[in-house]
Amino acid sequence: MIAFDGVTKRYPDGTVAVDNLSFEAPSGKITVLVGPSGCGKTTSLRMINRMIKPTSGAIMLDGRDTARMKETELRRGIGYVIQHAGLFPHRTVLDNVGTVPRLLGWDKQKTQSRSMELLERVGLNPAFAKRYPAQLSGGQQQRVGVARALAADPPVMLMDEPFSAVDPVVREQLQDEFLRLQEDLGKTIVFVTHDIDEAIKLGDKVAVLRVGGHLAQLADPAYLLAHPVDDFVADFVGRDRGYRALSFQPTPRLPLASERTLSLGESVDGRAGALDPWVLVVDGDNHPLGWVEPHRLSGPVASEMLHRGGTVALANGPLRSALDAALSSPSRRGVIVDDSGALVGTVRAHEVLTAIEQAQRPELEDPATPGAASAP
Ligand code: ADP
Ligand code: MG
Repeated sequence: MIAFDGVTKRYPDGTVAVDNLSFEAPSGKITVLVGPSGCGKTTSLRMINRMIKPTSGAIMLDGRDTARMKETELRRGIGYVIQHAGLFPHRTVLDNVGTVPRLLGWDKQKTQSRSMELLERVGLNPAFAKRYPAQLSGGQQQRVGVARALAADPPVMLMDEPFSAVDPVVREQLQDEFLRLQEDLGKTIVFVTHDIDEAIKLGDKVAVLRVGGHLAQLADPAYLLAHPVDDFVADFVGRDRGYRALSFQPTPRLPLASERTLSLGESVDGRAGALDPWVLVVDGDNHPLGWVEPHRLSGPVASEMLHRGGTVALANGPLRSALDAALSSPSRRGVIVDDSGALVGTVRAHEVLTAIEQAQRPELEDPATPGAASAP
């Protein structure tokens, strides 16, 4: 666990970047520091590995005061990833990843095999090993940055806007893979971003900072969306937070309708009038393929006739997915599947909304935001 205890940083020019900051980043979890530009996120992060020295207060790592630890020992246990990856341009990808192991005196063989293993772990083709950073895309460079930080298997990772400089599609991929990686690795991570959506997606805990390095609120993402502590946090988490909060609400039992389905190759002939204007087409395993309009069919159902626009929701997934499935379906009936992807039934938007209204509010945990204003 990393614990900030009344940490203040005043730069020599008098700027107070961080003001009496106290919070805990639990072991094996992702704690996100989020807030507008200049609110002291980078300063806070760099005080953890002592690249910046606090003016007052203490930062504890697993109960030990980091100020009393040897700098080399402290940093050996901390991986650090920054925006634009910060790779050495004149070194190959493989050499970049092996930077820390080399400093630690690992032999060449071990360093290389560890580096290759990590490239694979972060989803990079091993063929990139011999390339130079400039020959990679921004997203690929970030992957190398993550691999480099993981090389010596440090228990702690500090990540400063690692995905901010890539386009939204690549960013989403990097986030998804980062979450999968963390599921395996269970590192203690402090992740900095100015993007509230990223914070909500990645954080087990989210600390919202305001300019001046004040902690506005520290809570898990669902709590933050449901109970912003003040106007600043409410503004920052955004207008559609009510809708986004549904991402964290498990779907209760929905009143599912059974569907009269068709298969590929099946003909409706004279039956079209007896069918609904939209009929769901499934494959041999009862997996939904898309919707057809039977009265427009002049022969057997073919895959190019399918409307595939709608999303599909898992029966035990979040309420947001169920609602989205209903709203995005051409028939207005949202397709609900089980874990194997097989159809279990359909649901209408108003039925999901009723379920949302009836859903018992989940037990919300105490926000435990030391030093922050409490809700009125
Ligand atoms: P963030 O990462 O949230 O954008 P920073 O931690 O980089 O914020 O900066 C917080 C505040 O401290 C800003 O007002 C910034 O201008 C100021 N600051 C950062 N580094 C220095 C420095 N070396 N000297 C003086 N002021 C600094
Ligand atoms: Mg910064």
